[in-house]
Amino acid sequence: MNQVVDDVLEGSAALLEELCAISTATGDAEGLRRCARRLGHELVELGFLVEIENRPNMDGVSQPILVATSKPTGGSRVLLIGHLDTVLPSATPPRRLEDRIEGTGVLDMKGGFAALVGALRLCRARGQGTPAELTLVAVPDEEIGGPISESAVRQWGEGVSAVLVLEPGRLIDGGETIVTGRRGLSVWRLEARGRAAHSGLAFTDGRSALAAAAEWSAKAQALSEDSGGPIVNVGRIIGGDSEFVQDLGEEHRFVGTSQRLNVVADRSLAEGEARYLTLADRDRVLNRMRGLAERAAESWGVEILFDVVEEIPPVPPSERGGELARMLVDAARTDGWRLETETDRGGVSFPNFLPDPSAVLVIDGLGPVGDGMHTREEWVSLASLDRRIRLIAYLLETLPG
Ligand SMILES: [Zn+2]
Repeated sequence: MNQVVDDVLEGSAALLEELCAISTATGDAEGLRRCARRLGHELVELGFLVEIENRPNMDGVSQPILVATSKPTGGSRVLLIGHLDTVLPSATPPRRLEDRIEGTGVLDMKGGFAALVGALRLCRARGQGTPAELTLVAVPDEEIGGPISESAVRQWGEGVSAVLVLEPGRLIDGGETIVTGRRGLSVWRLEARGRAAHSGLAFTDGRSALAAAAEWSAKAQALSEDSGGPIVNVGRIIGGDSEFVQDLGEEHRFVGTSQRLNVVADRSLAEGEARYLTLADRDRVLNRMRGLAERAAESWGVEILFDVVEEIPPVPPSERGGELARMLVDAARTDGWRLETETDRGGVSFPNFLPDPSAVLVIDGLGPVGDGMHTREEWVSLASLDRRIRLIAYLLETLPG
């Protein structure tokens, strides 16, 4: 069996080098298609039904998306998801060093695909199938948070029992991580309207929308909690007389001059995000922001509108996800290495776009670890690739069918 494991690792490392040698920057349809074909070829050999579909990106240019489905088992369906695109264009030739592979996109996230192929080979070598029917979807536009990624997760995430994300885990002191929770976010906008007045002649007649929005912003930002609680980030605030705020493109030329500084600023606009791990946290923090807006409106005598303009749901760490993660942590320990669970990873990713993220079992960060993501120094640990092959194989063999 040890020889088999060595062969599987070597096969995966070689595949990873091949995938990394292909330039696949987001939008490079030709490179992405070649990479999809190369990965698809491996999956055909493993008995998957493979299709490379085409979908238009934001500019209407057709981009490839790889969809590979295993033979139906009669069990439930599991979605495996990852992205073929990289941030950097023009892949540099990958280099194999003693304990790592360096290459463009090797960590984020071609390593995850190589680990999956290794895991499937290992399952086959052990004579074990997987209890669940697997669908692997590899998308071309994750690095720009593109529409194809989002729609793919919605489409293939419908009705699955679990979602396994092949993005890399994180390298930590003496170990590695997987991810069971991801934050969601609300994009909000606050608009304040007061009353303009000459600050020299009629200051007390004025009602400063700018002062109200600025005070509100400081208090809203301070609602942020540490250790897993929600955070509020005020990303932008604009204030001034209403012409200035309404036509900033033209009126920004007044910045740095003394013109119209004698007007009580009757208009202000603040924009930002709130990020949270649970819907209860979302409701709590947004209610407090609304409450602050009501109080600021009252104390400054201005009108304030607070709106949420966009929302992406969180992937809260679930009971079942936690149980499965504990099994993986135990399996890693038996295998002689330390695995930890991240329950609170920032950054929106695939599982956030599931039809109902809290209803599905999600394990994220299954890919091998390394460092230097999105740089020319990006690398992946060969020891980690080896571990992840065994970890994913174990996961596929034990997932409830
Ligand atoms: Zn990624």
